[in-house]
Parts: sequence; structure tokens; C-alpha cells
Amino acid sequence: MPDSAPARQRSLWSAISEEPPLEAPPATGFLQTDVAVIGGGYTGLSAALHLAERGVGVALLEAGEVGSGASGANGGQVIPGLKRDPRNLERIFGSKAGPLVELFGDAAGFVFSLVDRHSIRCAPCRAGWILAAHAPGAMPPIRSRWQDWHSRGADIELLSAADIGELTGSHAYAGGLIDRRAGTVQPLAYARGLARAARDRGAVLLENSRVEKLVRDGGVWRLSGRGFEIEAERVVVATDAYSGPLLPALERSLLTVSSLQIATTPLPHDIGAPILPTGACLSETRKVAIYMRRGPHGQLLIGGRGPVGDGRPDSLYRDLYKRLVEIFPTVRGLGVEYRWRGRVGLTMDELPHLHEPEPGLHIGQGYNGRGVAAATTMGRVIADRITGGELADAIPVTNLSVVPWRFIRQPMLTAAIGYYRLRDRLGLGA
Ligand SMILES: Cc1cc2nc3c(=O)[nH]c(=O)nc-3n(C[C@H](O)[C@H](O)[C@H](O)COP(=O)(O)OP(=O)(O)OC[C@H]3O[C@@H](n4cnc5c(N)ncnc54)[C@H](O)[C@@H]3O)c2cc1C
Repeated sequence: MPDSAPARQRSLWSAISEEPPLEAPPATGFLQTDVAVIGGGYTGLSAALHLAERGVGVALLEAGEVGSGASGANGGQVIPGLKRDPRNLERIFGSKAGPLVELFGDAAGFVFSLVDRHSIRCAPCRAGWILAAHAPGAMPPIRSRWQDWHSRGADIELLSAADIGELTGSHAYAGGLIDRRAGTVQPLAYARGLARAARDRGAVLLENSRVEKLVRDGGVWRLSGRGFEIEAERVVVATDAYSGPLLPALERSLLTVSSLQIATTPLPHDIGAPILPTGACLSETRKVAIYMRRGPHGQLLIGGRGPVGDGRPDSLYRDLYKRLVEIFPTVRGLGVEYRWRGRVGLTMDELPHLHEPEPGLHIGQGYNGRGVAAATTMGRVIADRITGGELADAIPVTNLSVVPWRFIRQPMLTAAIGYYRLRDRLGLGA
């Protein structure tokens, strides 16, 4: 992989954000608030923004800087819906599925409306999301997804091999679909813009403020960390795959994997013009997911699953580059300017979860790699639960439970990813 000297081990997004860092102060001393939000990613920021808009006193505490979790590191693909298709949700939730399908079906549109309403400078582009079949055998589930959403009036189109060739500039795919409700943002700038909007509406933002203890004391919650204590009537925990030992069951209620990304140098016009020419983003149907998009300055980005723990991913970055060249042979030899990683929270049923294990404690998490739209929506729903808004019951509340056999499943996940990656390398993935 030809690194531009030196390929930076930080994200493209932190290098080019039009929304500046918040430079919020750390928490100190004692503070009393209506709602304390723990975690400055989309879930927490969206909850804080929607609470502040309704005049609720809110303090958001972030261990690092706003967007230092997955929300500042992701691919910026704003995809509506959930991993499971509407018919599947109907099977699971029966009559409660309708509002859920509608809520998450509108989730990408909701992101773009927030970007617009709060003038967030995050390079929004609503050019659609392509789901690309890496082999003919991957077309039946794509057709079924298309049919399911199409019958509900979604702006979604089935693509032949020729159509997808034109939309991607690659001959690598057997067909696919394009969901035109979707698009892209600069993900870190989007997080910072949400934070700015929340702060402008009265939310107190506190960075470099890790909450180390959370206890219920009589009718209130007490949160404390180095040099601060906060008293709040309610708490929103929005730490997803970055949860530490704060709540005993929380960290063990998800499986976590890392996702890696590389960004090339900006493509010269003759090479770049035919590649994803409309600005649509793309995911492949492989078991070990691969996703791609163009960057704001014409870079080409590719991402995929990394190691399960914090192991060194050098060979995996090389694999990503190799795959990029397989899909777009004309980029061979172009430098890689940035490479970075983040953590993804997975749930056993591939659905995000809302938990309320104790009175006044709200937890939203588990977006399975689709959190840009879904986490923003979750934050809004949590704000509605707290204020009695119209979406208060739109997401079913589930028990917070430890993933069964997690100590075995987590290493099994590593083995499974390795197995599917090997199949892909050998050309057997289907
Ligand atoms: C590399 C990568 C690519 C991805 N690509 C996409 C994509 O293209 N499209 C898509 O829809 N989704 C994507 N995702 C998933 C998406 O980024 C996440 O689902 C989403 O950002 C989760 O948001 P969140 O607010 O719940 O959590 P996070 O953004 O992870 O925020 C959690 C925050 O909590 C903070 N925190 C943790 N513990 C404490 C504590 N004790 N006190 C204070 N703060 C604490 C952390 O510092 C962190 O900032 C991707 C994820 C990764 C990692």
C-alpha cells in the first residue's frame, strides 16, 4: 500500500472539519441539572439538543472531545432503516413495528433536516446509498429489501449490473439497489455541529470529563469524576461501544468490533471522474462488510471490519487497499493519506436498543454500524421520553442484559471475521 509520506494515523475528518472543535471546558466542582447526558456522540448530542430546545436543563459530559468515539470516526454514510427489513421487524414486533419502520425509514431525512435547520457545515450530500451485490448469489436478499421498502413508497431502485457499473465506475458488481433517501455527511463536523446547536440552545457541554461513578441517591442521580460532582433528576447514557465499567451490565450488553478506514490522496480528475460520479456512497453485501464513498476533496475512502480487540491492524489496512484496487483498478499506485479506526457496538438481534433499567436512567445503544441516522433518531426519542413528546413510545424499551456467553462469543466473533475474510481473499465469499 503506497502511503503518502507519512500516512497519518488520524482521521481525514479531524484534518478537514469546517465545524471547529468545541473547546468546551472540563467539569469542575458541583453542578445541578435536570438531565445529565454521558457521551458526546450522536446519541448524546441529539438527546441534549432536543432537550435544550424544549427548555430542559441539560449538561453533557464527554470523556474526550465531542465526536471522539465512533461519531467522529465513521464513514459518514447516512442510511435510513435498520439492518433488518420492515417485514422482519413486523415478525418481531407485530403491531408495534409500524411506528418503528416509519421512524427509522425517515431517519436519514431527519439528519439532513437537522443539518439544514442548524446550518451545520458538514458537506451534506443526499445522493443515495448503493447496496452492491459482490456476487450474483447476493441479489435475492437485495431484491427482497428493495421490494419491502418500495412497496412502502420509499425512493429506492433496483440496479442491474450495467446500472451499477455506471453509478460506481466499477465492473465488480452483479447488481444492487440504490436508496435515494440516503446520503453522506462529514461525520465529525456533523457531531460538532449538533454540539454547537445544543450549546446555543442552553445545553452545558463539558469535555475531558469522564464520569467514573453513577449512583442513585434518594430521588436523584449523582455522577462524579475527577474534580466534579453532578446532581441530576435523569441521566442519559450514550456511550455505546466505548462504555467502560460505569454500569456493571452495560459494557457486557454489547459485542464490540473495530472498523478501519483509509482515505487516498485526492484523485486526479481523469481517474476520479468516473468513480462514484454522482456522490452516492456504497456498501457491499459481504459477510465482512466493506463500504466506500468519495471524500469532500475528491479522496476515495474505503472501510471494513478490523480486529476485535485493540490488535495492530497493519495487514488489514493493506487488505482494504488491495480491495479498493480490485474494485477500481485505475487507483493502483495512488497514495493513502489517512488511516484510522473506531469501535462498533453489535447486538445479538442486529437492532439498536433503548433500555431503562432504573427510574430516570435512559440508555440508547447498539447501532450495528448504522448509527449516523439511527443514533440521531435514538437521541430524539430519548428526549421525547423525558419530555412526554410524540415519539416517546416509538422505540420499544428492552431489558438491559449481558450478551449470553459473551466471554465465548467475543473470541468467536474474531474467528468468524477471520474465516469470512479468508473466504473473501480466496474468492469464495458469497
Ligand atoms: C469506523 C466506523 C465507521 C462507521 N461507519 C458508519 C457509517 O458510514 N454509517 C453509519 O450509519 N454508521 C457508521 N458507523 C457507526 C456509527 O459511527 C455509530 O453507530 C454511532 O456513531 C454511535 O454513536 P453514539 O453516540 O451512540 O456513540 P459514540 O459516538 O461512540 O459516542 C460515545 C461517547 O461516549 C464517551 N464516553 C464513554 N464513556 C464515557 C464516560 N464514562 N464519561 C463520559 N463520556 C464517555 C466516548 O468518549 C464517546 O465519545 C461506523 C462506526 C465506525 C467505528
